[in-house]
Amino acid sequence: MTDVTDLNDKKRAHPPGADAGAVMLRGGSVVDGSGAPAYVADVLIEHGRIAAIGPVLAVPAGAHVLDVGGLAVCPGFIDVHTHDDNIVLLAPEMRPKISQGVTTVVVGNCGISLAPLLPAAPVPPPLNLLGGSDGFRYGELAAYADAVDAARPAVNVAALVGHTSLRVAHVADLLRKATPAELAAMERSLALAMAQGAIGMSSGVFYGPAAAADIDEVAALASVAAAGGGVYATHIRDEFSAILASMREAMDVAQSARVPLILSHHKCAGPHNWGRTTETLALIDHAARDQPIGLDVYPYVAGSTVLRADLVDGVIEILVTWSEPYPELAGRSLATIAADWRCSQQEACERLQPGGACYFQMDEDDVQRVLRHPRSMIGSDGLPHDRHPHPRLWGTFPRVLGRYCRELKLFGLETAVHKMTGMSAERFGLRARGLVRVGYHADLVVFDPATVADRATFAAPSEISAGIEHVYVNGVPSYRAGGWQGRRSGRFLRHGG
Ligand SMILES: [Zn+2]
Repeated sequence: MTDVTDLNDKKRAHPPGADAGAVMLRGGSVVDGSGAPAYVADVLIEHGRIAAIGPVLAVPAGAHVLDVGGLAVCPGFIDVHTHDDNIVLLAPEMRPKISQGVTTVVVGNCGISLAPLLPAAPVPPPLNLLGGSDGFRYGELAAYADAVDAARPAVNVAALVGHTSLRVAHVADLLRKATPAELAAMERSLALAMAQGAIGMSSGVFYGPAAAADIDEVAALASVAAAGGGVYATHIRDEFSAILASMREAMDVAQSARVPLILSHHKCAGPHNWGRTTETLALIDHAARDQPIGLDVYPYVAGSTVLRADLVDGVIEILVTWSEPYPELAGRSLATIAADWRCSQQEACERLQPGGACYFQMDEDDVQRVLRHPRSMIGSDGLPHDRHPHPRLWGTFPRVLGRYCRELKLFGLETAVHKMTGMSAERFGLRARGLVRVGYHADLVVFDPATVADRATFAAPSEISAGIEHVYVNGVPSYRAGGWQGRRSGRFLRHGG
């Protein structure tokens, strides 16, 4: 666990609407998020916005001057793929994210969103990835948005509406596709959520509660997201041998709904599939000629989700991240648990249910190929409720900057930052964020390009990254290396607002 002293965030949090005062970031290397070359400049923060950028700015009376010479100044990182729907309310200090320089999280991915859903019964997996059934108490997105603003998390929150959540709310039998009446009810619910500020829809037909949905059902809903100006993000049906067909299904949905497509956590899973990102990325390049398409990726060879017997192949390493009946076994490998119990890994998997795991199902060359692709954005896919989480929750963004940019030189710093900021804001329609520009919201990160690095590992997954020096959210100093700033100023970001 982290060794950073708790400064009691709640006591130190500023009341809503408090103005943090002007700050001059003096002499940093501005990596502006657009992918353009870095340049040395002063950046003035005033009233929550970037007020001026220039070679030597005059310091307004009362402004705090921070010398950031030798450090990079860039837009706050946008974590485009999260399952933070509930944790922004339960633990609004958002330490795993703010300590990486993340200033905005996109929630509601993989078909799973906390809102709009008031379940009549305990939610089925994978909805339990959001921390159990108790959190599902928002029948409309507007109520969730109000809850976010009231909790005032350290980071901004933009929300997708999950197709699986809509199904759990409106489809009587999850093992079949929606009837026309059920589909109409889902369409009404999604249209209302779009009007209340959702940035799009996500689906996860990989998972049981949504697997019976066909292209027509998903496309009908994706058209509603499109009509509201949103995007369609998807965890495709199969990331293993049927990956190309599954990608085509997603592309067909988006094409027929006329909606921008985002392929979530792109990967080729399973040893039999390793190396095939040459094919999948070629398919994306081909499709991109006819439709708007993007993808996100996390910088690790292991995935993580709920425990699933169909992912236990006896070949890949599997690390248990949580188990309801055996909480003490979180952090141990499924193989050693099975050996202790003198049973098969399949049987151990069943006995540990419900639970979650990391699956070492990818090849490093594939991960690097996806990271390098010009359309890939960075999204952590972190699971904040897991007892022993995948280290991507705490380390994703510094890992891209440290390991993949500085050490392995997959791309320059400007490109790395663009994949975490400007490209992300543009694809997801986040207005006036993702760039260092005058008039933009002052979501900013100051980091040391020479030392930035992830520290979280699979053995010790909750470690704070190195090299992230200062983080500002809506102009408010929200994190400082070596100690928590303890001031929270995140907001719910409504589509187009
Ligand atoms: Zn997913």
